[in-house]
Amino acid sequence: MEKMIDSIVCKDCTGCKMCKDVCPVGAISFETDAEGFWYPKVDYSKCIGCKKCLKTCPSLSDHINPIAKDPVVYASWAKDDEIRLKSTSGGIFYVLAEKMIEQGGFIAACKYSDDFKSAYHMVGKTLEDLEDFKGSKYFQSDTEGIYKAVNDLLKQGNKVLFCGTPCQVAGLNRYISSSENNLITVDFICRGINSPMVFKKYVEDCERHYGSAVKKVHLKNKNKGWTRLGTYMEFQNGKKYYRDRVTDPWVNGYVRGNLFM
Ligand SMILES: Cc1cc2nc3c(=O)[nH]c(=O)nc-3n(C[C@H](O)[C@H](O)[C@H](O)COP(=O)(O)OP(=O)(O)OC[C@H]3O[C@@H](n4cnc5c(N)ncnc54)[C@H](O)[C@@H]3O)c2cc1C
Repeated sequence: MEKMIDSIVCKDCTGCKMCKDVCPVGAISFETDAEGFWYPKVDYSKCIGCKKCLKTCPSLSDHINPIAKDPVVYASWAKDDEIRLKSTSGGIFYVLAEKMIEQGGFIAACKYSDDFKSAYHMVGKTLEDLEDFKGSKYFQSDTEGIYKAVNDLLKQGNKVLFCGTPCQVAGLNRYISSSENNLITVDFICRGINSPMVFKKYVEDCERHYGSAVKKVHLKNKNKGWTRLGTYMEFQNGKKYYRDRVTDPWVNGYVRGNLFM
């Protein structure tokens, strides 16, 4: 059989995982390469050759967003100091998401796993959910299933705000079949995404060093100033970790060397 989405060259695949959601027969899964990034794998015993994966992949499309030309631009930040302190930049994600919740809509955004060694996208509906969504996780979020979940909500007539990397938003826009009027997408200027495997190893290394499981991770922590790009961690044994962009190996490798992207 002709090759499907697994024919994509690694440098083009962003790991947005939309191809799995779009496959009508569940023939696509993901494997990680040696650097820890996801790439699609096709089970040709299930594949029906419909090419949906190839046709919808944002990286294989030359489609240009029509609103990308001359957009109307506003600058803003959250007025509430507490929201800004806990958000990574100006907290505008929180403000938009809060408004959506007030209007009875859903939020699809990124949160850490319970052990803080990975991150994934999920759907939330309450202000409590937003606490987990706040803050940038500077490594690849697992988005498997989120495109379908958002589309299902839209089909039922719900409003949804989706926040993710530009490639994830591009994936969603090419997936959705339902009322676009009820969907608000929020992406951000993105330096590039780091390997989830490296982040996991980094947290595990800190756990070994501190002799305890981690119970909180906060990247770009602002307690000692915004521009220090501080990394803050708390461990189960009560110990705490704080290092800045120069002394923290994870942030240093990311912002100075692009080592894990
Ligand atoms: C990998 C990455 C690279 C970035 N690079 C730049 C940059 O080069 N320059 C710049 O100005 N800004 C960059 N940002 C954006 C910046 O960190 C802020 O997220 C953004 O300015 C919005 O800030 P905020 O305070 O409104 O919201 P925040 O509180 O930061 O927003 C949180 C929301 O962002 C989304 N998000 C967080 N982590 C991820 C993730 N790993 N994958 C997908 N979505 C995620 C979630 O849906 C989450 O709910 C980057 C963000 C990420 C995640």
